[in-house]
Amino acid sequence: MNTVSDYFGSLVFDDRVMKATLSADVYQSLKKTIDEGARFDNNVANAVATAMKDWAISHGATHFTHWFQPLTGITAEKHDSFISPAPDGRVIMEFSGKELIKGEPDASSFPSGGLRATFEARGYTAWDPTSYAFIKGKTLCIPTAFCSYGGEALDKKTPLLRSMEALNKQALRILRLFGNDSVKCVRTSVGPEQEYFLVDKEMFDKRKDLIFTGRTLFGAKPPKGQEMDDHYFGVIKPRVAAYMADLNEELWKLGVLAKTEHNEVAPAQHELAPIYTTTNIATDHNQLTMEIMQKVAAKHGLVCLLHEKPFAGVNGSGKHNNWSLATDTGVNLLTPGETPYENAQFLLFLCAVIKAVDDYQDLLRLSVATAGNDHRLGANEAPPAVVSIFLGDELTAVLDAIENDTPYNGTEKTQMKLGVHVLPRFTRDTTDRNRTSPFAFTGNKFEFRMLGSSNSIACANIMLNSAVAQSLKIYADRLENASDFETSLHEMIKKTIKDHKRIIFNGNGYDDSWIKEATEKRGLLNLKTTPDCMPAIFDKKNIDMLTAHKVFSEAEIKSRYEIMMENYCKTVNIEGLTMVDMARKEILPAIESYTADLAGAAGAKKAIDPQLQCSYETKLINRLSYLVDKIDSATDELEQELVKLKLITDVTESANMIRDIILGKMELLRSFCDEAETLTAEKYWPFPTYGQLLFGVK
Ligand code: ADP
Ligand code: MG
Repeated sequence: MNTVSDYFGSLVFDDRVMKATLSADVYQSLKKTIDEGARFDNNVANAVATAMKDWAISHGATHFTHWFQPLTGITAEKHDSFISPAPDGRVIMEFSGKELIKGEPDASSFPSGGLRATFEARGYTAWDPTSYAFIKGKTLCIPTAFCSYGGEALDKKTPLLRSMEALNKQALRILRLFGNDSVKCVRTSVGPEQEYFLVDKEMFDKRKDLIFTGRTLFGAKPPKGQEMDDHYFGVIKPRVAAYMADLNEELWKLGVLAKTEHNEVAPAQHELAPIYTTTNIATDHNQLTMEIMQKVAAKHGLVCLLHEKPFAGVNGSGKHNNWSLATDTGVNLLTPGETPYENAQFLLFLCAVIKAVDDYQDLLRLSVATAGNDHRLGANEAPPAVVSIFLGDELTAVLDAIENDTPYNGTEKTQMKLGVHVLPRFTRDTTDRNRTSPFAFTGNKFEFRMLGSSNSIACANIMLNSAVAQSLKIYADRLENASDFETSLHEMIKKTIKDHKRIIFNGNGYDDSWIKEATEKRGLLNLKTTPDCMPAIFDKKNIDMLTAHKVFSEAEIKSRYEIMMENYCKTVNIEGLTMVDMARKEILPAIESYTADLAGAAGAKKAIDPQLQCSYETKLINRLSYLVDKIDSATDELEQELVKLKLITDVTESANMIRDIILGKMELLRSFCDEAETLTAEKYWPFPTYGQLLFGVK
């Protein structure tokens, strides 16, 4: 076990292991389910379970768990051991097909957003054979979906699988229209780039805000921040390099294709990118990656911060969701083709995405909405809250030519007719990469950049897949009934460009003038906060679309709204309470003790010479005394508002009150404390400063 290729995937019950441990019949049956989405044949479950158990035991496992993704955003597991008593007093290790396929965790401790009241308290987990089982520690983890007894999804995997199925169905209809009968299924692939911060564990432990909320609620700007741009792609520090090496090894054993790692823009910020894979697996792997990142950090005396905005004034962390559509025959449908027909097909899929992003801007925005991500979107370093698409000049010019029936580039003699003329091959523009766009076409895939670093990528992909399925459905409905396929195709692409070109923007998304243009001239949505965007989930067009493709039922949509809003409220409430606690118990006493010492020093000086002015001490004491009073009253005010918040029972009302009142009170309290920090001698300050946290890992 020394080279990577020896141990890669060693803890995964993957295709190699299946082939080696299952009989040919069982293997074929399972493979059909995995590759083509065929229904799993329960008759082979026992055989699969036994092989899985034997393999797991041979790798030191004693337990198994149904591993799932409840709506808390993290993963959950309940461990059962394989042991079963034998008549002679010994134990044998058992694992049945039934245990593999279905589990029954108590659903009552997971959020259900009201679904539990309507349905039974129990939930069940169902094996997802399309994502390989793996071993973590001494436990065989079986990826599962988590539902209520009524079949309502209580997790993120179920709707994700449904959205993939919806997209598969519609994309196949389109491919058949183009005469492609051999493709059996179309799947989306995702490569999520994950940003994170590393801080020293000892420093972390001294900050209640980091411990309770994952972000700093106080902290003055350090003398040096990220302005030198010397960290991005810079030399990786030894402690960080050791961490990354260890992290890679752990991820590789689990079959996670961790590929690229580098420093990010902010000091102490880094990124890990995997090689892309099927969305469902990419989602499971990203959850695993986040978990392992934190575990490995602990081994290195570090803490991995996945919060979207751990430090004010310093770049936050996001996740770039690189997304494409591919057939089981290995064709990426977002790659411009070699023949006129392939090109027309490419343009149709491209248009489907453009239409989807424009029609469902609100769903994409709310799919990434959390209290943490609200600090990022629209701040200077992240895409704005306004959704738009970057296509690049070349592709935009092609679309313009189609829309206006004008020759592309002015060089073609004839106007371009789809299905007849070959499009120029678009080269991926590596020089002019637009990093400010929320949704960028990067040659053969789209990069959705609004996701927060702690988000499960499931939510964004559920909305994206569903919205694109809807565009494709509309296209397929029309084309299947068209008398002249090529003319209809051409007209439809033209119409899409005309109707949806407002969403295409190749300029600088960080520019204020863009926001003005987007909202005032183009009528695009600018939903700045979670409470601003979440209600859009109830718009009729959204409910109609999501239910039509069977991605969510209406009850599930309502429950998800409740959970996301509740989560927002709980998060900010904890932050508010933590600020009150830190201000009262740490910050105020620290300033007091410093001012007392200053006063003592002034007194001592005056005892020697009563004529002395002691203007240094006097000035500082005056300013700090002023700040102490301000901090005290701002703390009281914040606390009073938090008490009022507690009395509101409706989540929408609570979230609005947070947005309109509480966040402002928190900001005010912080501003006084941060000023006091800059005036207080370092040894009095009760917790590590930004400078220490950001530059403390060597
Ligand atoms: P960068 O965006 O930093 O230039 P790349 O474009 O090479 O880097 O890759 C970024 C991420 O996109 C990686 O996780 C990669 O696996 C993923 N990716 C590359 N091609 C595709 C594709 N066809 N579908 C989905 N993800 C992809
Ligand atoms: Mg990228």
